[in-house]
Amino acid sequence: MPLIDGNAIAQQVLQEVKTRVAALAPVVPHTAFVRVGDDPASVSYVNKKQKTAAEAGMKSTLHLFPETVSKAELFACLDALNADPAVHGILVQAPLPKHLPETEVFNRIAPAKDVDGFTTTSIGRLVQELPGTFAACTPAGIIELLRRSGVVTAGKHAVVVGRSLIVGKPAALLLLGKGLDATVTICHSRTKDLAAITRSADILIAAIGKPRFITADMVAAGAVVIDVGINRIADATRKTGYRLVGDVDFDGVSAKASLITPVPGGVGPMTVAMLMQNTLRACESALAHAHHDAAH
Ligand code: NDP
Repeated sequence: MPLIDGNAIAQQVLQEVKTRVAALAPVVPHTAFVRVGDDPASVSYVNKKQKTAAEAGMKSTLHLFPETVSKAELFACLDALNADPAVHGILVQAPLPKHLPETEVFNRIAPAKDVDGFTTTSIGRLVQELPGTFAACTPAGIIELLRRSGVVTAGKHAVVVGRSLIVGKPAALLLLGKGLDATVTICHSRTKDLAAITRSADILIAAIGKPRFITADMVAAGAVVIDVGINRIADATRKTGYRLVGDVDFDGVSAKASLITPVPGGVGPMTVAMLMQNTLRACESALAHAHHDAAH
């Protein structure tokens, strides 16, 4: 049961990003993080992203708003960040309060700065397979894990369990795209006989949000299994009182899989690494456009 080491692969990606960032000096890639309210998970995600950006030699700023912020005020901030040539990437941390519909807020971000890949434009570009598109970071991280682990996707049956806009759907689109060329099945909560479909997977992506949902009897011997799930379960032996498990029953499934990602230490670290890569690309492409404009 060889493990796919997400921490090690994320470090490789970050090292490459750091080298490319250094080559851009004196320009420093800059991500603006926008956080509304104090949801503890959002606070910790944004902290982690800012810390990783600093380690990669990139700049970040944090724009904080109370839960009660009006749409107009939030949009004014996004408009200013869109217009600021020193800002290359903009990330609005979800979840947002009910009076701020996520799609509408994300769509206020200029597509060239949409390093999270959540705008309608980015998702449309992903479907059209346009070069330079920002794919959402978790699905992009899944693909990078497969690629750097030498997993062949062409002609293989990839089964994605979960159809969310941030994970399942874009992961399926990426696997389906030219170059990766998998035959893709997307499953969800209304799928009939899920186990029969997952058993036919050469590559199984679990993005469900249910602890240890995928059990050994649902997986073919030799399958490659990517576990996206991050679920807290009670654990009295831990100081925190909980521990993290994935959507895959690791103990059972790892005995059958040819390759499997652990939780934690699999997809999680890749999500942050891909955000850094997207920000670097946003900066590189802004510079290329500036050169092009100057030349004309
Ligand atoms: P969502 O809740 O948005 O989507 C879950 C999907 O799973 C839905 O499409 C749902 O189907 C499907 N599903 C639920 N129950 C079943 C079932 N019984 N059988 C088949 N399908 C089912 O979750 P996300 O996509 O946002 O996240 C999925 C998991 O990944 C979570 O554990 C989350 O914490 C984790 N995550 C990890 C990240 C990382 O960086 N590693 C980043 C983002 C998420 P339906 O559409 O029909 O409801």
